Amino acid sequence: MTMNDYAWQCDKGLTDCMKHVLNNALFCDVTLLVGECQEKVSAHKLVLVSRSPVFYASFEGPLAEKGQLVIKDIEKDTFELFLHYLYTDSITLTNENVTSILYCARKYCVDKLTWRCELFMEDKIDAENVFGIMEEAHTYGLTTLKEKCLKYLVQNIEEALASESFSLICKHCIGSILRMDSLNISEEKLFEHVIRWAGAECSRRNLQTTDKNKRLVLGENIKLIRFPVMADSYFKDKVASGMLLDADEVINVFLYNFSKNDGNCRQSTFEVASRCYRRVLRFRKTLRERQVSDEKNDIAFESSVPVTLHGVTVYTPKEQCETQIVCIDVFDHNKSSIASVDSHYFEHSSRKVHDVFLDQPIRIAPNKRYTISTKTSYWVKSFYGTRGRDCVQFRDGTISFYNAALSESSDSDYDWASTTVDKGQIAGLLLS
Ligand SMILES: [Zn+2]
Repeated sequence: MTMNDYAWQCDKGLTDCMKHVLNNALFCDVTLLVGECQEKVSAHKLVLVSRSPVFYASFEGPLAEKGQLVIKDIEKDTFELFLHYLYTDSITLTNENVTSILYCARKYCVDKLTWRCELFMEDKIDAENVFGIMEEAHTYGLTTLKEKCLKYLVQNIEEALASESFSLICKHCIGSILRMDSLNISEEKLFEHVIRWAGAECSRRNLQTTDKNKRLVLGENIKLIRFPVMADSYFKDKVASGMLLDADEVINVFLYNFSKNDGNCRQSTFEVASRCYRRVLRFRKTLRERQVSDEKNDIAFESSVPVTLHGVTVYTPKEQCETQIVCIDVFDHNKSSIASVDSHYFEHSSRKVHDVFLDQPIRIAPNKRYTISTKTSYWVKSFYGTRGRDCVQFRDGTISFYNAALSESSDSDYDWASTTVDKGQIAGLLLS
């Protein structure tokens, strides 16, 4: 042996030394029997117990003297990656390994690694895999990640539903989707996808794919479908004619819809607010190169019919800037704040407008004035609108825009305001 064989530590930092003792199995004092075939992996108790409370408990208990631990539920390749992380704090996550590494992190309570997996998956959310990630998040109780998936679905639900993974999610996650108040899809289309899921679930449970069984597998989720929002003819032909709803429920939807414009409207068994929003844009023209003057912008509006406000469409900065944050406040006619979005961050893209959703959509009473106030943190030039309309048709009513007058003491000369009916920021509203 040369001096170098003994002195491998000299030019290395802690991480590289730990890697060396692991890779060369130096002074190991425990053997882990990993995977179905119980393949041997050597390690050091000291490292395992100092990194995971689960290993700590294992070696504290009756296994203390035993130099072996059986780990059947993790494949050797995955376990070695995990072990490498325990020794060095570093790991290269990939689409292929993240799920199994997450399993290890959760099993051995290595929360820092769980967070890394969570961040990795959050970054990868797209239409193809959002339901897969959502199911992982549900399985491991990662509520923030699940929330991120649901937020992604608000605007991308149609593309996401085209992916096969939708039919594989669990009943609980179907409920999470159906509880959402804002989704860019008609209730009819959403219903058809949910029924497709129910058919797949029947097959998984070896049940015949009848309406009765579909209802059985949907359970309470059926109550979350907004039947009164569907077109009458669709409801009559595609829902009422089948056995999915019972007679009382069908009658309730018909009676509600017949009486909804009367003064004494029937109580509906199902939610009656549409979750399918539309962008109501107020400018005829969008320009570049707005000078950054002030970042606070207000606009007031009234609707001639009851509508639901899901969010606000804002203009984006023209070029990448350090932080792209929007704060939104909605005030009612009494100038009381009725909804707000604190610090909504979004990535820069080539799009001129960006939709910001309220946590909960709010009902807008007819012929009452509401004011939207936005604050942006862009320190670069942004897009802006001109030739604004004071009135925009929306469904069977109109949305009218007014210059905002939030503060009594503020200068009422709107020539000085950067956002008015005619020009400025706040490109539109997200309404249903
Ligand atoms: Zn689930």
